[in-house]
Amino acid sequence: MGKYFQEEIETASREEIVKIQNEKIVKQVKHVYDNVAYYRDLMDKKGVKPEDIKTIDDIKKLPFLTKADLRDAYPYGLLGTDLKDCVRIQSTSGTTGKRVVAFYTQHDIDLWEECCARAIVAAGGTNEDVVQVCYGYGLFTGGPGLNGGSHKVGSLTLPMSSGNTERQIQFMMDLESTILCCTPSYAAFIAESLAEKGYKPEDNKLKAGIFGAEPWTEEMRQAIEKGLGIKAYDIYGLTETSGPGVSFECEEQTGMHINEDHFYAEIIDPDTGEVLPDGEVGELVFTSLDKEAFPLLRYRTRDLCVLSRKKCSCGRTHVKMSKPKGRSDDMLIIRGVNVFPSQIETVLLNEGYTPNYQIIVDRKNNTDTMDINVELTPEQFSDKVAEVADKEKALEGAMRTMLGIGPKVHLCAPKTIVRSEGKAVRVIDNRKLH
Ligand code: ADP
Ligand code: ZN
Repeated sequence: MGKYFQEEIETASREEIVKIQNEKIVKQVKHVYDNVAYYRDLMDKKGVKPEDIKTIDDIKKLPFLTKADLRDAYPYGLLGTDLKDCVRIQSTSGTTGKRVVAFYTQHDIDLWEECCARAIVAAGGTNEDVVQVCYGYGLFTGGPGLNGGSHKVGSLTLPMSSGNTERQIQFMMDLESTILCCTPSYAAFIAESLAEKGYKPEDNKLKAGIFGAEPWTEEMRQAIEKGLGIKAYDIYGLTETSGPGVSFECEEQTGMHINEDHFYAEIIDPDTGEVLPDGEVGELVFTSLDKEAFPLLRYRTRDLCVLSRKKCSCGRTHVKMSKPKGRSDDMLIIRGVNVFPSQIETVLLNEGYTPNYQIIVDRKNNTDTMDINVELTPEQFSDKVAEVADKEKALEGAMRTMLGIGPKVHLCAPKTIVRSEGKAVRVIDNRKLH
């Protein structure tokens, strides 16, 4: 197998990509208008008819869909085909509220798995690899998506699902896994567990990891790469658009190529809905260009990032998105200052701490408080109270510089913060603002 899973489309010229998008959007808007009453109503309210959409640029005329729409239309309101034509249901993890369900025809499954296969090949995967998938299987899209992608590549697939870290390690070593797929927080936990068992990074046969489904920083990437002795690739996706594989990293590791032949991306100002030019940070909006069963148009992801069309050394031509900073609703507003958990992760890893931390936000006497519990490694752990207090002060200073506000840092004993096997829970907000 070569460098690409589907070379022709992955390296197509801009003109070719736009041509495909123009053809697909006209067909897709008609499909949605004819079959999805919920969206037809939104278009009618906006006074847009399918005939008004002649090219991909006309997409701006269409109404947005939000998570609230998905909840209103739950469960069948956005279905684009007969249920008898659907072969699968998946669901969101429910990280930010009630779960959303998505439907797939066989065609939808195929295109999703092909997107995941592109990601695996971009990470160096071939039919000679052993791909250990420890994303959760079941309703969550992580396991099924990478599993299907790995089959399409022809790799030997280990459908481990998440959890049971002992067994993950045993199979990884015995069956000589070469590619690991899981959330970055679980990858960090696996690396930690391997080290505890006395394994060095060079003792495993892993060469690459494909990690996503939650925000993670460059510092976290370096820590995982070092801990496992691999190259760590990012992968992004959401249930609403199919699952992982909407975009993926190539060897350049300067953003994730969006599979533009299937998903059209826009960046908008989250407050005004205005489309922003490439290079500006805003909310990512996706249109599924050819999904049949759950064909969302202009879906607002709430993920904040930047698009870039800079030429990529890997030869792929599809637009790249930056690592999402987190969702707009992950952003904490502490005493009026915007704080992202990813900023805290950056400081911790830069200061030599582990990614085992938890942020606790509360409101006392009408003032927001932020406490950060940070776990120490056995080597860092000390009984000397003065030493701990000094370290806490130093970390509080570094946090203040990064965030613009001063949180309270508490250094905790090793193994006191719960490890994540799926998406990590980084923030506990006790303010009950919602
Ligand atoms: P839920 O919304 O319940 O978490 P999903 O499991 O579909 O449902 O998760 C999709 C979300 O996960 C995305 O909208 C995004 O916020 C996050 N996500 C997925 N991949 C990445 C990634 N590589 N980096 C950062 N965030 C990611
Ligand atoms: Zn590239």
